[in-house]
Amino acid sequence: MQTLLGAPGYADFEAALQAPAPVSIRLKNAIRDFQHELPFEQPHMLEVPWHPLGRYLSERPVFTLDPAFHAGAYYVQEASSMFLHEALRQTTDLSRPLKVLDLCAAPGGKSTLMLDMLHPESLLVSNEVIRARAGTLRENLEKWGNNHIAVTSGDPADFTALDGWFDLVVTDAPCSGEGLFRKDPDAIREWSAAGVVACAERQQRILSHAIEAVAPGGILIYSTCTYNKQENEQNVGQLLDTGAVELLSLNIPETWGIVRAGGGYQFFPHRVRGEGFFLAAFRKRAEPAHRHTVAASFRSLQALPKKMLPALASWLRQPEQLRFFQTPSAEIVAIHSNLEQQYLQLDKHLKSKWFGTHIGTFKGQDFIPSHALALSDLCSPALPGIELERDPALLFLKKESFMLPEDAPRGWVLARYKGLNLGWMKVLPGRMNNYLPQERRIRMDVHGRRWTVDGGRRTVDGRR
Ligand code: SAM
Repeated sequence: MQTLLGAPGYADFEAALQAPAPVSIRLKNAIRDFQHELPFEQPHMLEVPWHPLGRYLSERPVFTLDPAFHAGAYYVQEASSMFLHEALRQTTDLSRPLKVLDLCAAPGGKSTLMLDMLHPESLLVSNEVIRARAGTLRENLEKWGNNHIAVTSGDPADFTALDGWFDLVVTDAPCSGEGLFRKDPDAIREWSAAGVVACAERQQRILSHAIEAVAPGGILIYSTCTYNKQENEQNVGQLLDTGAVELLSLNIPETWGIVRAGGGYQFFPHRVRGEGFFLAAFRKRAEPAHRHTVAASFRSLQALPKKMLPALASWLRQPEQLRFFQTPSAEIVAIHSNLEQQYLQLDKHLKSKWFGTHIGTFKGQDFIPSHALALSDLCSPALPGIELERDPALLFLKKESFMLPEDAPRGWVLARYKGLNLGWMKVLPGRMNNYLPQERRIRMDVHGRRWTVDGGRRTVDGRR
């Protein structure tokens, strides 16, 4: 680090590592006005310079105790990594529908950021090679509520089959994590010189597949949360050596404190309010485009029989724009009809995948809505719902029972908090069944836990 920063810079860097890590969130675009409803100190919500919806919080709240967090009102994201917004704003034509691949996507920070920027008819393929992490990714994307997605769990090599298919490929690569030393003590314990070499080699392999997936003239983003040259600069150099890409430069105000280094943009914690991060942007040189043969039908999805369609309409916003399929386990999948061909192509080439929104199942003639539908922007706003105060909302999220008003609507009812859907309840005479999936319930003890205002600072249980 001393060689990278010089002696005075290094002293400042070292001092910054002793300071507390900043806390930041990114508001969801569709409900950006919701920030006024958040339980954080409003006057201190400073904006992240490189993201219009990024906000710094003056302390770390217990996000679990904010029902809006579970409804996907915001994403807790480290500020430096929100720089992807600026990189895309400057390099990518976001006014047209794009096919986008987030190659190393879990837990979903960059994917949710992109979903809020892309043209509404774009398709985002969000991939995570590690199966267990792909589950978390799917959960976070479900919470974000967009339908124009596919979540896949493939090795980067699997995307070679989709040669030149994507207009934009983001490779937020697994790395040695030097930029997380302040935020995450495990990053220090896990670091080793041999690990840096292994990460650099792994990234080189991932990037070699990523570049193949980019369309001629398309954009490739490479980012890490580390500083060393083997992982950042040398990989940028190797990509350029292939001759397949040109490096793109961005116009960055000096006041942001970002350093141009190794062909990319480097974030140091003593110069920005954020953790260590590196990003470089490339354009793939033009070459003859490849054509893909479209398979005749989905491999495992079956079209939903027409007679079942009327039962779905009232649950959905603009059902006429959707196509419905059934998985082998009888889950109903809704995809946007404009994207059917793209999904067909993905289905042909990729193995482990999940398309669009799984909206529910049929039990005989009755439709049983899924949790994903409650959180999705497909969910009809005309459906009955009950607005819950914070305490009952937390009990709902803990999958416990609580009192409903006498005049509560009956049947399938949405539990809502400040207008945001939290999940389904089935209200029956004298009782309510809570349909929050068991694995999504809050495990923390919420009883008696309160956000309290203490001298203008919000605290939990009176503790800071
Ligand atoms: N983009 C994510 C976000 O913004 O939330 C963070 C991605 S994290 C830096 C890198 C991801 O790459 C991890 O989820 C990790 O499981 C995955 N990964 C690990 N080994 C990989 C490999 N060989 N190929 C592709 N991805 C890999």
